[in-house]
Amino acid sequence: MSAGSAAVVAIDGPAGTGKSTVARGLASRLGSRYLDTGAMYRVVTLAVLRAGVALDDADGIAAVADGVELSVESGPDGDRAFLGGEDVSREIRGDEVTGAVSAVAAVAAVRSRLVALQQTAAGSGGVVVEGRDIGTVVLPDADVKIFLTASPEVRAQRRNEQNIAAGQRDDYAGVLADVLRRDELDSTRAVSPLRPADDAVIVDTGDMNQEQVIDHLRNLVEQHCGAIR
Ligand code: C5P
Repeated sequence: MSAGSAAVVAIDGPAGTGKSTVARGLASRLGSRYLDTGAMYRVVTLAVLRAGVALDDADGIAAVADGVELSVESGPDGDRAFLGGEDVSREIRGDEVTGAVSAVAAVAAVRSRLVALQQTAAGSGGVVVEGRDIGTVVLPDADVKIFLTASPEVRAQRRNEQNIAAGQRDDYAGVLADVLRRDELDSTRAVSPLRPADDAVIVDTGDMNQEQVIDHLRNLVEQHCGAIR
């Protein structure tokens, strides 16, 4: 088993569990790279929207995904996403992409292209990979698999607070409806539905702040993989 700092860590869970912040924080504590796979689905979704392809046109979506040139990077200055060389980091977080991404992510051809890219990007170790199907499909041999959960109400509350902090309007009911809709789409889709891997550790983040969750996960990595240097 690898030492903690060389571990491959898979973090899955639904929207609003604090996954991204926690995964980024854990990667920084471990001295590992961080890979945000949701950003990749968002870039493809932006390409689909720009191409004017309907969200129920699976073949059209597959064709866009096949030709799209995308990359995501994580560095000390934050995370960046590129579509054909254009920095689309802000645009992929907007309402339009957020509203469409689960439909695009349900298309099998989109998933197979992105899973292959994610497996290459993860490399052989020293990485925290965050998404919905990392422990089950992308990295089934990950050293540590974590599934973060929290009630839909807690997750909507957190998302709404983030939105307000980012200058968007206060809309708890709208955010809760979006959380429930995306949960339903992500967990009932035919290809790679959102579910914990059989060997995942399930962590309910409802009563913890993000620092506590990061500490807890770091301890889990240490237990599974040995001391973190
Ligand atoms: O994590 P984030 O909210 O940015 O992910 C956006 C969407 O991308 C999710 O709601 C889900 O539909 C999809 N996704 C996925 N598989 C992943 C990562 C994200 O289906 N590994």
